[in-house]
Amino acid sequence: MGLCRLRTIQNEKFKKEMTNEQKYSIAIHGGAGTLLQGQMTVEKEKDYRNSLEQALEKGYDLLENGAPAIDAVEAAVKVLEDSPLFNAGKGSVFTADGTHEMDAAIMEGKDRQAGAVSLITGIKNPISLARDVMEKSGHVFLAGEGALKFAKSLNYTLEEENYFYEKFRHRQWLEIKDSDKFQLDHSNAKDSKFGTVGAVACDKEGNLAAATSTGGMTNKKFGRVGDSPMIGAGNYANNKTCAVSCTGSGEYFIRGVVAYDVSALMEYKGLSLEAAANEAVHGRLLKIGGDGGLIAVDATGNLALPFNTEGMYRAFKTSGGLREIAIYK
Ligand code: ASP
Repeated sequence: MGLCRLRTIQNEKFKKEMTNEQKYSIAIHGGAGTLLQGQMTVEKEKDYRNSLEQALEKGYDLLENGAPAIDAVEAAVKVLEDSPLFNAGKGSVFTADGTHEMDAAIMEGKDRQAGAVSLITGIKNPISLARDVMEKSGHVFLAGEGALKFAKSLNYTLEEENYFYEKFRHRQWLEIKDSDKFQLDHSNAKDSKFGTVGAVACDKEGNLAAATSTGGMTNKKFGRVGDSPMIGAGNYANNKTCAVSCTGSGEYFIRGVVAYDVSALMEYKGLSLEAAANEAVHGRLLKIGGDGGLIAVDATGNLALPFNTEGMYRAFKTSGGLREIAIYK
């Protein structure tokens, strides 16, 4: 069978599954941006795909064994945070002061419980701290010193600065360090890549969850916080509609309240997951000049992974037997 025909069948199968009943599924992303084929070495691309696969399978195995969606998204994001390749956890970008300030959020769709942290340093897995905020702090959002005090009260150990040192991130920072520029992961006007990571899942009970984690923007200053830890902007979950994790220029996602917007388009306008996600990314976000993408899942396990950039590190797996790991358009 020709490759095109096979691709068409796969697309049809995917479309069919997007609209039909399906039990459980997971999608992950590792950032969107100017990701063009041939830009990185074959080895590097393999590394990215391997990391995505590892995170995907980790989350999917949990779902398959009956774990709740919130466990699956946290576990998948932790794998990506532990990889130096992505702008989260270990691979976080440098701030203007040469430090790392990380943001993360997690939300579950059944009771709409949420936890978020921002401007934290030294924490290996910010997503787990966000989950602890949700489950143990009595609050939703903790920032900076206070968040770290909370982490210490739970006996988190702080990593040394050099745990977060990655040569290529340091180089990215040195290139713009003495300017007023701040950029997403690695970017200039023509070349922008966002390395934020995220996961969304629907478990066997039809419960949804979303998790997002990031180092933010290279050379960021003045305590800049992006969309990733903001509930409704970069991360959102509601069993009635969907779970969403975003990546891209955070400022636009905050102004567009994008993650919640996908949910609102479904709830108030009756759009399907796919239509709502497309409208948010290709319609509303573009209209205000925003670039990036998102991953989304609904309570029957349907998935949508739209992006308006050249590429997005992404992967998904469904109990219906669909699985894909992709980078480019
Ligand atoms: N959205 C993130 C931020 O603005 C960046 C990214 O997606 O890589 O902090």
